[in-house]
Amino acid sequence: MPAMPKPIRLLSSQLIDQIAAGEVVERPASVAKELIENSLDAGARRIEVDLEQGGVKLLRIRDDGHGIPAEELALALARHATSKIGGLADLEAVASLGFRGEALPSIASVSRLTLTSRAAGADHAWQVRVDGDGRVGEPQPAAHPQGTTVEVRDLFFNVPARRKFLRTEKTELGHLEQVVRRMALVRPEIGLRLTHAGRSLLDLPAAADEAVVERRLEALLGAAFLGHALRLDAAAVGLRLHGWLVRPAFSRSQADMQFFFVNGRPVRDKLVAHAVRRAFQDVLHHARHPAYLLYLELPARLVDVNVHPAKQEVRFREGRQVHDFIFRSLQRRLAEGGLAGADVLEM
Ligand code: ADP
Ligand code: MG
Repeated sequence: MPAMPKPIRLLSSQLIDQIAAGEVVERPASVAKELIENSLDAGARRIEVDLEQGGVKLLRIRDDGHGIPAEELALALARHATSKIGGLADLEAVASLGFRGEALPSIASVSRLTLTSRAAGADHAWQVRVDGDGRVGEPQPAAHPQGTTVEVRDLFFNVPARRKFLRTEKTELGHLEQVVRRMALVRPEIGLRLTHAGRSLLDLPAAADEAVVERRLEALLGAAFLGHALRLDAAAVGLRLHGWLVRPAFSRSQADMQFFFVNGRPVRDKLVAHAVRRAFQDVLHHARHPAYLLYLELPARLVDVNVHPAKQEVRFREGRQVHDFIFRSLQRRLAEGGLAGADVLEM
């Protein structure tokens, strides 16, 4: 006997936010990713991330970006509210990291969130709170230099099923560190600090010149990476690929040092992975993994970032061309310099 159908009802907006949060907010690391992206989009020069208990008890991100005007604070926490796109034309050429207007309301629906911001030119800051119930409190005056602080406490306190999936403090912290390190690699010109329970884990000054960039890479990837890396800078058909790839002789036993950014966005992409694998195919034993840090830049209209809520996947409009460009650029660089000094040392 089929069960009697239940009547159709509209979901409450809090439940809608929590469902959206299911896609965007998997763990503290995904909260950090979204909030750091917001800081970068706001033109921050310095970002500070402070954590307690692996980011579950507290995750606080402070930036010196352009801030949010008092009258827009509540709107920033509303679903589908964004300052980054206004119409379809913008969506087809997204220049910012965010554009969906989902992160803040999603995070606020599964935590206790405080948003404090002082807009450029404002004489003081304002603060609003949401306690996981979707109700945004009245803005209160607050002390804060220009920029924004988002404080996320007690992640998933109101979604026990989600909370159960959280791992140990150490594991969550590990994921968080990876996110912050990846962001530090995308934007070396931005100062970045990470602390956990008051202990400093990363403190990277803003890099204004190549020497500081290299020091940052050394701090993040180790001296061996840089010592054995080939510099790459290739451009063709409106595409540019630059960065570092490590000589095949210094390959790794794990695929743990592979960083590929598309227009400043860390992405996982099959087409990219395939092009890179093919380029290394002839020079690398199949059980070894290449190490690289590569930045692909292309006109925003040639890449669709609206593929997945967490924005880790992209779709290239000219996939074949992008694939061949990556493959050829790497293959050429490896042929020029890859085999030089190939005494087989391994990292
Ligand atoms: P999205 O980033 O997709 O626009 P979010 O929910 O992450 O959506 O943020 C909503 C809006 O709040 C942003 O469009 C932006 O205007 C504002 N905002 C969020 N974080 C910051 C920040 N750190 N600095 C300045 N503005 C911010
Ligand atoms: Mg965002």
